[in-house]
Amino acid sequence: YIPYENPLDRYFIRHPAAFLSTGKERLIIPKIDRRQRAGHIACAAAELPLREAELNEEEKEIASSLCGEGVLAETSRGFIYRGLERAHQRFALDDLSGQTIKITCDGTVLETMDPLRARREAHPGAVLLHNGETYVIERLDLEKGIAEGRREDVPYHTHALVSSEVKILSTSEFCESESSLRARGRGMVTERVVGYKTIDADRTISVSDLDLPPHSYESDVMWISFRCGIPGIANADLPGSIHGAEHALLAMAPLLVLCDAGDVGGVSSPFDPKTGYPTIVFYDAFSGGAGITPGLYRSFSLLIEAAHALVSECPCRDGCPACILSPRCGSQNRPLSKPGTILILKSLTEEWGSR
Ligand SMILES: [Zn+2]
Ligand SMILES: [Zn+2]
Repeated sequence: YIPYENPLDRYFIRHPAAFLSTGKERLIIPKIDRRQRAGHIACAAAELPLREAELNEEEKEIASSLCGEGVLAETSRGFIYRGLERAHQRFALDDLSGQTIKITCDGTVLETMDPLRARREAHPGAVLLHNGETYVIERLDLEKGIAEGRREDVPYHTHALVSSEVKILSTSEFCESESSLRARGRGMVTERVVGYKTIDADRTISVSDLDLPPHSYESDVMWISFRCGIPGIANADLPGSIHGAEHALLAMAPLLVLCDAGDVGGVSSPFDPKTGYPTIVFYDAFSGGAGITPGLYRSFSLLIEAAHALVSECPCRDGCPACILSPRCGSQNRPLSKPGTILILKSLTEEWGSR
């Protein structure tokens, strides 16, 4: 394990027990629809013949209809895959949206992505790592479902800058304390990839703008609303304070739920039209949701305690890449207030902490 200059690794250096005692990763399996289930059945049958006894009634029926489509064949050993292309290329199992973008180089398909991921990872200028080799994306045509790249060894990598809006649609669970409210439910996320950073050895060497169409999708969301303001924070410092708290909480999400830092997004606003208060909303960055924010909602006490420790123990003065600066921030880490962030996280810990 080599720790890097990012918030989670810095937290582990100061709290090695958290690294050693996290236990088994908790796997989250979101509900999948018929199309995704068919993909899993086809991929399983491509590995080994799938016996009827291994399938439930619904899966048997899906397997039969896949036979009718020529994807599977029923043999004495069970269902086998008979597609011409590889099963995982035909059914991208990480694609929850049903649409795919083919990433190509010289006419060869390197991999496929759903449109959301393609906007973030296969935009023009993006450096894509595929089978240990780097490719620079030259063109992304979302309508035709294709991105073209060239093979080139480059010493840098890129990070998409994502600006998002979330409209809360419904509440499925909530909890109130004296001055704040936390809740989870469903939301409509609109994401815009507004640009990208080129990074060489942890240093940003350039920032480029992009003009890609926005993408909207429904997802799982969790939010925190501050109903009585935050003591000690002037109105002018509020946007930078809740923005900093959003970044710190996002950075700590992988500590509690099996996910990557980019799998969950956040939006903070001094006034949310749905809640009527300063609010931070977190969303699963997957069309349909992936069970991440429900997991964060359940582990809320640990999440805020870890985020509070992360920021208050960081020796920097105004915020740094090891605490509240985020390489993914769509507003270039502006505004941010480290003292305000600490005040918010402290007040949340006092209200919702486990100690
Ligand atoms: Zn710092
Ligand atoms: Zn941000």
